[in-house]
Amino acid sequence: MKGGFAAAMHGVKLCREKDLRVGLRTTLTQFNFPQLPDLLDLMREYDVQKYYLSHLNYSGRGKRNHGVDAHRNMTRQAMTQIFERAWEDVQNGIDTDFVSGNNDADGVLLLQWITANMPEHREQMERMLRAWGGNASGAGIANIDNLGLVHPDTYWWQETVGNVREQRFADIWLNKPDPLLVELRQHPRPIKGRCGECQWLSICNGNTRTRAWAGGDMWAEDPGCYLTDAEIGLPQPELIQAMPVN
Ligand code: SF4
Repeated sequence: MKGGFAAAMHGVKLCREKDLRVGLRTTLTQFNFPQLPDLLDLMREYDVQKYYLSHLNYSGRGKRNHGVDAHRNMTRQAMTQIFERAWEDVQNGIDTDFVSGNNDADGVLLLQWITANMPEHREQMERMLRAWGGNASGAGIANIDNLGLVHPDTYWWQETVGNVREQRFADIWLNKPDPLLVELRQHPRPIKGRCGECQWLSICNGNTRTRAWAGGDMWAEDPGCYLTDAEIGLPQPELIQAMPVN
């Protein structure tokens, strides 16, 4: 909508004048990646307390944009910018929250960043990430849509596990959970490919299953992981030795 940006920022300003906590939220693509520093600055300019970066997910609306998923390097750079900004705010006593969603490999990247920048906190961070347990679709996250249909999370509208207009949520979720929920609640999940061999599986829990499912297999490795084989502890291929030239 023409004028949409100005209208949205006016809304932010009015909320802040009434001292309401406000968040900015964007889905990362290769097109808006260059704007991330400006968005983080906008947050300061308007005294916004929360920033949420959503990685693109290949399901629902995300599927149409599959071809424009941010380049893996860009994703890493975006996350690093967010870690740095969050730490800057902590040091300056600014009360902000930075949240990322739809890519549980972010936890592993954060652990690497902490290791490189403040190794004294690494142990605690790893403990907290393990306690968090990574992707929680169908376990710690539920989605109830506008018709009352219950899904394992926002990106799972293709699968329904009950309807709150017909059953109590406690029955759908806890007392008689659908087999899909039971499967998703395994920890760590029985995931194939590089996720299955990854040393961080119990921190990440195999990341986002709908992205794997978009490729045809719910238990396949997550194609949205941006970590290298070395970073996830896979053996490295041996270097080919050059033959001596006579
Ligand atoms: S390889 Fe899989 S389990 Fe490991 S960090 Fe990446 S997405 Fe997570």
